[in-house]
Amino acid sequence: MTETTTLTGATLPDGRVRNVVLRHGTVSHISPVGIPDPRQAAIDLTGYLLLPAPAEPHLHLDRALSWEPVGSDAGGRDGAVRSWRAAPTRYDVGDLRRRARAALQVLSANGVTSVRTHVDFGVGAPLRVIEILRELREDLQRVLDLQIVAVASPGLSDRAALEAFAAGAALLGGRPHSSPDPRGETRRLLRLADRAEVDLDLHLDDQPDHRVLAVADLARLLRASGFGRQVTASHCASLGTLRPPALAKVVEAIAASRLAVVGLPSAPLTDARTGRGAHGLAPCGGPTPLRALLEAGVPLTAGGDHLRDALHTMGRGDPLEVASLLVTAGQLSVDQAYAAVSTDARRIMGLPDAGPEPGAVADLLAVRASSLAEAVLAAPSDRIVLRRGRVVSRTAMGKAAGHTRATIGRQRTRVPAGAR
Ligand SMILES: [Zn+2]
Repeated sequence: MTETTTLTGATLPDGRVRNVVLRHGTVSHISPVGIPDPRQAAIDLTGYLLLPAPAEPHLHLDRALSWEPVGSDAGGRDGAVRSWRAAPTRYDVGDLRRRARAALQVLSANGVTSVRTHVDFGVGAPLRVIEILRELREDLQRVLDLQIVAVASPGLSDRAALEAFAAGAALLGGRPHSSPDPRGETRRLLRLADRAEVDLDLHLDDQPDHRVLAVADLARLLRASGFGRQVTASHCASLGTLRPPALAKVVEAIAASRLAVVGLPSAPLTDARTGRGAHGLAPCGGPTPLRALLEAGVPLTAGGDHLRDALHTMGRGDPLEVASLLVTAGQLSVDQAYAAVSTDARRIMGLPDAGPEPGAVADLLAVRASSLAEAVLAAPSDRIVLRRGRVVSRTAMGKAAGHTRATIGRQRTRVPAGAR
C-alpha cells in the first residue's frame, strides 16, 4: 500500500459525494471532490456508495457449504441435524478446509472483513477442527479477522474445554439447552470463561418455544454474579412468543444485564421451512423482537447463522441479505438494519470502529448504489472491499451470464450468482 490512497467521488451514507483519503489503514480526512494528488494512489468510486464494512457475528464455518454433499433429511430440523451428524465427510480435514475457505471467500467478496464462527467441540467433534480454522485465520489475515468460538458440548470436562483456547479459539460458546440441567450448564460456562479469561457467546433459545426462556435466566444470573466479561446471547427466538407486558419485563432485564444479543433473522424462517422445531413444536410466535431490544438500549447485531448447510440450505453469506431480512422480519429501519450488520456488530465483537469517518479504521465496502435503501434492497453484485485501506476484493458482473468475477486477495474466483 502506498502511504496515502484517495477514494474519489464516493457517495457517503448521508448522500454527499466526496473524496475519502486513507492513510496507514485509517481514514485520514474527507474532502470535496477534486483531482487527487497524482503522486498518490487513487481509486475511482464514482457511482459507488461507501459504507463501513460489514462484520458477520454468527456463522458455523465447520458446516458451511455442506448441503449438497450431505443433503438434508426430510424430518425437519432434527432430521437436518441427523443428516449432518451422519455425514461421512463431516470432519474430513481436506473437505473442511476447502469448504471453510470457500465460505470465507464468499463473505469477503460480499464485503465482510470480520467473522465470528461458532465451532462444535467435544463429543464427536475433534480439537483438530479448531486448529484448521486457526490455520485459515492466519492464512487469510490480510483479508479478514476470524474469531473462533469453541462451542463446548455439555458434559465436556473443564480441562478438555480449556484445550480449545490453546488450539486457537478466542471465545467460549455453548448450548445450555442441550444439557439436562440448563441452569447448571450456564453457570459452569460462566465459571469456565472466567477461568480462561475469555468472553462468552451462547446459543440460547434457538427454537421459538415459550416454555424455554434461558436468556431471561442468564440476564438475572449476570446481574446477580457481577460477571465482568462480555456475554453475548445468540438467537433468543423464544422472545418472539411473548406477549407485550411479559416481553417488556424480559427486555428490561436483558438491558440491565449488559448482555449483547445476536439476532439471526433467517433461523425462524428455516424452522418454518423444515416444519418442526427441535422440541417437536411447530413454529410459533413472531420473529425475535429486535426492535424492542434495540429501543431498550440492548447492544444488538445480526448474522447469517448458516451458509448452505443441512439446517439452512439457502444462506448467501451476504450481510445485505441479512439487513434486508431485519427490515422485513425484524421491523428495523434500513439505517438500523445496516448498523446491526456493520458498526454495531464490530462493537459487540470488540473491534475498533470502521467506516468513512476521519479516524476510523479503513475497513470499507463500496457498493454500486446511490443510497443505503437501494443497496439493502437490491444487494448489487458490484462491490469493492477494503480492509485496513487495502483493496482485498473486487467483484463486477462478468460477461458470462449468471456469474460474477471476484478477486479476493491475489486469488481470482468465479462466484455463482446464487452465492451472492
Ligand atoms: Zn448458531
